[in-house]
Amino acid sequence: MATLALRDLRKSYANLEAIKGVTLDVEDREFVVFVGPSGCGKSTLLRMIAGLEEITGGDLTIDGKRVNDVGPAQRGLAMVFQSYALYPHMTVAQNMGFALKLAGVKTEERNAKVAEAARILQLEPYLDRKPGQLSGGQRQRVAIGRSIVRNPKVFLFDEPLSNLDAALRGQMRIELARLHEQLNATMIYVTHDQVEAMTMADKIVVLHAGRVEQVGSPLELYHHPNNLFVAGFMGSPRMNLLPATVTEVDQNGVSVAGPGGITATAPVEANGIGRGTSVTLGVRPEHMLVDPNGTINGHALIAERLGGLTLLHIELQDKTMIVVQTDGADATRVHQPVRLSIAPAHCHIFGPDGLAAEHLQRNPLTMPVRAH
Ligand code: ADP
Repeated sequence: MATLALRDLRKSYANLEAIKGVTLDVEDREFVVFVGPSGCGKSTLLRMIAGLEEITGGDLTIDGKRVNDVGPAQRGLAMVFQSYALYPHMTVAQNMGFALKLAGVKTEERNAKVAEAARILQLEPYLDRKPGQLSGGQRQRVAIGRSIVRNPKVFLFDEPLSNLDAALRGQMRIELARLHEQLNATMIYVTHDQVEAMTMADKIVVLHAGRVEQVGSPLELYHHPNNLFVAGFMGSPRMNLLPATVTEVDQNGVSVAGPGGITATAPVEANGIGRGTSVTLGVRPEHMLVDPNGTINGHALIAERLGGLTLLHIELQDKTMIVVQTDGADATRVHQPVRLSIAPAHCHIFGPDGLAAEHLQRNPLTMPVRAH
């Protein structure tokens, strides 16, 4: 059992407030990912939870107990860093068992725990090797093994996959998701990579400039970003965000006219948006369709053919650039005219304050999760 509660947590370095009041609940056995651009404060927040950074303001509780002033070793957490920080002169088994040895755990019990961690992480064939004889992925597994043997209440991961190449990162993502299932443990994971966040998290916390922008399940954040920042950050290629003017508001939603002849009726609540309001229309690349009967005209400048899908970079008649995602067999040629239409159900409208208008209906998969 391990739950965490963050209440108005703050961190100042001299005259810089790096964390500006974060309130969040982490449920038992949840996989929570802190994601955001470099410098947004995600590592600082993780280190505050770990006890490696002093907390300037607010309360941090673990299993109902306030731990602001409890030392890192007493918090029952284990942290896995980007740099594996393995001892080069020790074998894999010695590295994994070292913390237990320091804690005075008897050899027999220690060996059993190391063997169990090696089994879970498929490190059994490498127990006698030194870190220098391992691949990057294997080293990261040893670093994780070092945490597992301590049976912590909560695992904290600080960009653990950043040093690995793309293929290995993909593989390790799956391994970590499996590990989470096997260990049934609470995990908090920091990354700047929204793909890692989307693929592993039960709950994503999007941070920006020391504040939480939105908390939600991956699909909730993807389909219902609260604001322009989250809309632009989550999803690759990113959402097309286009300046538009409201032409009509009725029971079907908000109709807008955008650049390059784009018109759309987004099924969203008006919430103070009226005719003539300047808004931002958001359409994900997969919701812009190549359609011979479409009313939006343009031509592709670049076609990125990725095999299973194609990304078309299209210039509209007024020179506005948009990205359209189509299937791998798409026949659109560069520099040839192309017609497009928009899937209106998936349009987003952001008001002048940058906040999203709420959709009139939601798919159950994208319902809000409890933020705190
Ligand atoms: P992220 O992990 O999202 O890249 P960090 O948590 O490392 O961001 O940093 C958040 C902000 O706090 C940044 O502006 C960074 O420069 C600042 N910061 C981090 N650590 C320190 C420190 N020890 N002293 C002063 N400023 C720091």
